[in-house]
Amino acid sequence: MALNVTLKIFRYRPNQPARCDTFDVTVPDAANVLDAIEQAWDKHDRDLMFRHACHHASCGTCAVRINGREKLPCIAPVRDYLDGGKPITIEPLRNFPIVGDLVVDVTGLFQRQEATGFVITRPTEDSLDGKRVDHTQCLAPASAAIVPFNRFENCVECGICLSACPTMAADDKFFGPAGLAAIQREVDKTDDPNARARLLDLADDEQGVWRCHSAWECTEACPQNVNPAEAIMDLRKQITARRFKKLFAR
Ligand code: SF4
Repeated sequence: MALNVTLKIFRYRPNQPARCDTFDVTVPDAANVLDAIEQAWDKHDRDLMFRHACHHASCGTCAVRINGREKLPCIAPVRDYLDGGKPITIEPLRNFPIVGDLVVDVTGLFQRQEATGFVITRPTEDSLDGKRVDHTQCLAPASAAIVPFNRFENCVECGICLSACPTMAADDKFFGPAGLAAIQREVDKTDDPNARARLLDLADDEQGVWRCHSAWECTEACPQNVNPAEAIMDLRKQITARRFKKLFAR
């Protein structure tokens, strides 16, 4: 079965007024919103700017707002947005500079992630029973050599949490949910007290965890269950404990 849908897509070029264009497209019943955007590009307007890569929520590249909510359109079924023929609205992420149409400049996100030293692969991973397992020691089938492998961190650096964050909307200097979640992951992973202290100092900044208004929109919107809001609360606890420890050590 095919679905006939109308997309209302935000259009923008520097030094030109922003507008919305409407495209009627036909996609298969199982199509996702990214497929519909690609149809609009393919059949109607090759100037339409949008980003995409993996098509299965592994790269975070295609993030946009669908009907006002931050989503990865590569895993958002078109049929979930059928509403009596009303158009599906597609807009770029908020709180980033717009390059053109649906494409935003995510440099700020990557710079924050880099400042944390966030390593996007996990050399170790908790097993289901809570014991640490070193995957480099996992045995391949008897006939094969031992093949070390890494699992990737959950965060795909899509920027959705920064777009959904009301604090970010008011203050572009805020370190942001993804960066603070990255700090918490690194604090959790390191055994080095100096590295831990540096990371907690980074989070214990006026633009760090204390700037968050606890709206939890980041956790609500994150497509990868990173739960940045909980990471921020955890960092607050650790920073407060560190302050008390210093106070009582005097
Ligand atoms: S924390 Fe979630 S929403 Fe934020 S960048 Fe990472 S995957 Fe995207």
